[in-house]
Amino acid sequence: MSGSRTFTMIKPDAVLNGHMGAIIQDITNAGFKIIAMKYTRLSADRAGEFYAVHKERPFYADLVSYMSSGNIVAAVLEKENAVLAFRELIGATDPQKAAEGTIRKKYAASISANAIHGSDSDENAVIEAGFFFSQLEMFV
Ligand code: ATP
Ligand code: MG
Repeated sequence: MSGSRTFTMIKPDAVLNGHMGAIIQDITNAGFKIIAMKYTRLSADRAGEFYAVHKERPFYADLVSYMSSGNIVAAVLEKENAVLAFRELIGATDPQKAAEGTIRKKYAASISANAIHGSDSDENAVIEAGFFFSQLEMFV
């Protein structure tokens, strides 16, 4: 039986600090199936487009330059109730407020360099996955 899907990025701080393998392990240990995965980098333009909903926020420029500062891992994941289950696995946006055992609590440096992204709705998961992967790459 297949579940629903979400989209994630392991952010530049987590890659740079050597947490990529441990984070992927946490994700698969939590029962997520990897549908597609890519080790890549965002240009500032692409990062700006990805986070366009935050355009008016005071942290937007920093967010865009941070997200284009190094390599990331983009992935499409599948599990029952994937969006909500994944947000629980990664924890609150601010790692200081994230629950014990969550990915952000374990690996994030700060609210701006917070180790990992998770889609906030089924609709955005589809849009964000399509930003990185073709239909063929997601056909499993
Ligand atoms: P993401 O979308 O990356 O999974 P999120 O959904 O938990 O994170 P959003 O509100 O969508 O949080 O913010 C997107 C990203 O912008 C955050 O992950 C964080 O890196 C950055 N950000 C959010 N709020 C702040 C803030 N107050 N100061 C600095 N950076 C922030
Ligand atoms: Mg968000």
